[in-house]
Amino acid sequence: IVGQLADEMGVSVYVVGGFVRDLIMDREKWRWPNMDIDLVVEGDGIVFAYYLAELLGGRVREHKEFMTAIVLFPSSRLLDKNDFQFDHEEQELRIDVATARLEYYQSPAVLPTVELSSIRMDLTRRDFTINAMAIKLNTSSFGELEDYFDGQGDIKQKTIRILHALSFVDDPTRALRAIRFEQRYDFKISMQCERLIRNAVALQLIQKLDGKRILAELEIILQEESVLECILRMQDFNLLEEIHSSLSLSHANDVDFVTEAYRVLDWYDMLYLAEKIDNLLFFLLVMSKGVSTGEFKGLLERLCLSSVQVEKYLFIRSQLIGVQPKVEAWFEKKRPMSSLHLLLKNVAMEAILYMVVRLEKEHGEELKRQLSYYIYQVRHEKIDITGNDILRLGVEQGAKVGEILQKVLLAKIDGIIAGYDEEIVYAEG
Ligand code: ATP
Repeated sequence: IVGQLADEMGVSVYVVGGFVRDLIMDREKWRWPNMDIDLVVEGDGIVFAYYLAELLGGRVREHKEFMTAIVLFPSSRLLDKNDFQFDHEEQELRIDVATARLEYYQSPAVLPTVELSSIRMDLTRRDFTINAMAIKLNTSSFGELEDYFDGQGDIKQKTIRILHALSFVDDPTRALRAIRFEQRYDFKISMQCERLIRNAVALQLIQKLDGKRILAELEIILQEESVLECILRMQDFNLLEEIHSSLSLSHANDVDFVTEAYRVLDWYDMLYLAEKIDNLLFFLLVMSKGVSTGEFKGLLERLCLSSVQVEKYLFIRSQLIGVQPKVEAWFEKKRPMSSLHLLLKNVAMEAILYMVVRLEKEHGEELKRQLSYYIYQVRHEKIDITGNDILRLGVEQGAKVGEILQKVLLAKIDGIIAGYDEEIVYAEG
């Protein structure tokens, strides 16, 4: 469809970037409908996007100043549902369309201004050789690979290589991207690239970066399977401290702590519970162990989080600081599981997972075992009776109903009642 449209419009169109890289690496990930497609048009990308959207029954979001557009369209327009496993009925797919262009950088760490040019120049502005390949889609030359920087060679040699020596000066976020691709594919950042990242750190270019751009890259890293390896590699390059002083892992036991925290997170993921983790919050809690509230707030502001998010994260962290000694006292006094539930039921899961690591260090395996049990067994425990059952027993005051239901739940948690047992519930009633 894209190639034919390009022919009709008399322009050349290429698929570029991650799609080409993953296709050449033959990774499962490239398969639709799981990934974004990036197209580059040698011509007006925005006009092309509108025609493409018409063909696909989709809509366009355009960014005039960057000469780019996004085409969003229902998956059913393109894909045979029998060929793919859909999580839900209709999924929206996305194609990014850019205009082939040459970019001039006004000054380090600032977004570039734009001028028209060809695919070759477009690829020249990209981050790494493995991301700077394009495949032509026009019908007469469909499938032709444009690889001016030997991205294929670097894929074979498992190397992350930049295109020119000023790459990290043009855009220091590439240091984070280099680490992400290195760890994701088990590649190695080239020696020159490594030297230039260290140079960018020494020149404090990361410190000058807009927090929003750091946050965007960080959030992608935190979704990666190799998140822990990425964090340790960032530490290795001193990037964490450059982003904000409170992220620094200055002691060997900080590294142990973060390592253990991500093991616990892996364990949690394997439970497939409905309560999802906010990866950014978890990362920030773990990394800021021992940091004052003021410094923590400074970190959130450095990353340009919205004021709502700042409030939320500060609240959760203060909740964590408040509840932690209570959980320790609960453990020391050997109180029942129901008391732990009362302490933790309104505490965010990210904070509870943090406590699992923190308190194991101080109180040993048994506390970890009990907290784990709380997470997978107790926290989402339900009872089989409802308020109506209590009302049928003749309880008149509405407020009492909630209280009784709570008591039944706590009794169930402590194993006093094993589940729905009409006789016991009615007897208590
Ligand atoms: P992923 O598999 O993580 O989505 P991707 O390569 O598709 O990887 P994107 O961030 O979507 O990553 O970027 C798409 C393409 O845009 C990249 O392959 C690269 O060519 C280019 N690109 C993205 N960010 C930069 C950057 N900071 N500097 C230069 N080129 C970039």
